[in-house]
Amino acid sequence: METQRLRIAIQKSGRMAEGSNELLQAAGLRLPSRSKTTLFQRARNLPIDLLLVRDDDIPNFVATGVADIGIVGENVYEEWQLDDPVAPITLVRRLGFSFCRLSLATPKDGPLRSAKDLEGKSLATSYPLILRRFFKEQGIQADIVEMSGSVEVAPKLGIADGIFDIVSSGATLEANGLGPIADVLKSEALLVQTQKPLNAEKASILERLMVRIESVQASRQIKYIMLNAPGSKLATITDILPGADAPTVLPLQGKGDMVAIHAVVQDADLWDTLEKLKEQGASSILVTPIEKMMA
Ligand code: ATP
Ligand code: ZN
Repeated sequence: METQRLRIAIQKSGRMAEGSNELLQAAGLRLPSRSKTTLFQRARNLPIDLLLVRDDDIPNFVATGVADIGIVGENVYEEWQLDDPVAPITLVRRLGFSFCRLSLATPKDGPLRSAKDLEGKSLATSYPLILRRFFKEQGIQADIVEMSGSVEVAPKLGIADGIFDIVSSGATLEANGLGPIADVLKSEALLVQTQKPLNAEKASILERLMVRIESVQASRQIKYIMLNAPGSKLATITDILPGADAPTVLPLQGKGDMVAIHAVVQDADLWDTLEKLKEQGASSILVTPIEKMMA
C-alpha cells in the first residue's frame, strides 16, 4: 500500500501565496517547480502534497477533509466559522504573515465618521457574517449588501453608504475617495486543520511539520523600528508597520506636527515596508535588531 501523504491546501496565487510557500520551504519542504496551471505539488523529500487553490475554497477543502490542513487568512476563517451550521475547522496556529485589517470605510468628505453614524445606513461587504456580528455587538441597525468583489466602488455607484473590507495600505480606499473609520478585525495567516480524524501516519507527519514550523517562527527575526513622521499620517503608518500592535508615539520638540514612532515589527518584507513608509512621508528611519525580548 502506498504511504499516506499529508495534504495541505494553500492559496495558488495572491496575497497569501508567497508567504505560505516560503513558510513551507523554510520548514524544509522541497517542491518541484510549478507553472500557472499547477494545482497539485508533491514534496520530493517528505510525505506531503500541496493543493493550490483559491483562498475562499480553503475552509471547505479542510472542513470536508479533502485537505488535512490549510493556510488561510483569519478574515476568511472567521467568516467560515460564523456560517453555521457548516462543518467547523480547527485553528492550530497563527502564522505571523499576511497581516491586514477588516475595516469600515466611508466617503472621506461625508458625514459618516464613526461606526455609530452607520445606524440606518447600508454597507457593502464580502464579509456579511463578521459585519453582522460587529453590528450586533455594537447595537447598530444597518443594512448589509453582500458583494463578492470590487466592494470599494459601491458608495460611488450608490449601492451602499459605506463599505466593510480589507484595508492594508489604504491606497485602494484612497483611490475611491474612501477613508477608514473603524477597524473591526485584525487578520493574519492561520494554520487550520480538519476535524476529521487523521490516521496515525498522517498525524505523525503533521507533528513533524509543526515542530519545524514552530522553530521557523521562533527564529524569524523581529526588529525594532524608529522613524519620524507627520502626526496626521499616524494611522496610515501604523497600518503599514507589519505586526506593530501598539507603537510608541513621541512628540518631536520644535518640529510642529512631526512625531517619532517606535515599534517592534516583523522582519519579513521590511524593505517593502520601508519603501511604503517613505512614500507616506516618514524620515530618519532606523531599524535595529532585538537581542532578547520577554512579553
Ligand atoms: P483568490 O484568487 O485566492 O480568491 P483573493 O483575490 O480573494 O484571491 P487576495 O487579495 O490574494 O485574495 O488576498 C488573500 C488574503 O490575503 C486576504 O483574504 C487576506 O487574508 C490577506 N491579505 C489581504 N491584504 C493583504 C496584504 N496587503 N498583504 C498580505 N496579505 C493580505
Ligand atoms: Zn479569494
